[in-house]
Amino acid sequence: MGRLLIFSAPSGSGKTTIVRRLMERFPRLEFSVSATSRPPRGEEVNGRDYHFMSPEKFRQLIDSQAFVEWEEVYLGTCYGTLRSEIESIWARGNVCVFDVDVVGGVRLKQIFGDRAMSFFIEAPSVDELRKRLVGRGTDSAESIEKRLAKASEEMLRAPEFDHIIVNDNLDRAVDEVALLVRRFIDR
Ligand code: ADP
Ligand code: 5GP
Repeated sequence: MGRLLIFSAPSGSGKTTIVRRLMERFPRLEFSVSATSRPPRGEEVNGRDYHFMSPEKFRQLIDSQAFVEWEEVYLGTCYGTLRSEIESIWARGNVCVFDVDVVGGVRLKQIFGDRAMSFFIEAPSVDELRKRLVGRGTDSAESIEKRLAKASEEMLRAPEFDHIIVNDNLDRAVDEVALLVRRFIDR
């Protein structure tokens, strides 16, 4: 039976960093590459970070029911999980790893139930979140404000996840997640 690991967090909490570290430890984890209607940013590579596409192409995929879930995460920018992506990961005998926004994470857990384990990654404070977003250096000041405005609303949904991980000390957070993942995939 195919399994899934879901990671959601307010942007800047360290979710991507944690997921990358985790994937180095568990060779059976395979990242589910989402589709997005936004253009690539920085070093992002098509097919590795996202399937980048035009808003028109994204719309076509919605119409052909290609998505398990999709969402307009930021105004004018859509992201979605492709059904075909999950199926090919399971066909290789691997565990799907999702990096999705909070609404998408709750939705995927509802769809897949016990086949999924969901994690909410939290920064210790909103101030720290701002520092991390500034320090990451990938977003404009406007984009950072947009992400922070969304964060407080997202944090209210943390209790809907199986596990809440406070990413204060990175090594400790990765160890905590790894222990839970080990139990889940060996179950
Ligand atoms: P997300 O995927 O949640 O948006 P990232 O993984 O990109 O967040 O992390 C945001 C920034 O914070 C990155 O520059 C990352 O190196 C840094 N970071 C991650 N975890 C920690 C931590 N525990 N302490 C300090 N900085 C961190
Ligand atoms: P970014 O533009 O920073 O890469 O991502 C913006 C947000 O979209 C992040 O919170 C990310 O988790 C979310 N996201 C990425 N892929 C998906 C997806 O397939 N579905 C949903 N619902 N959100 C996604």
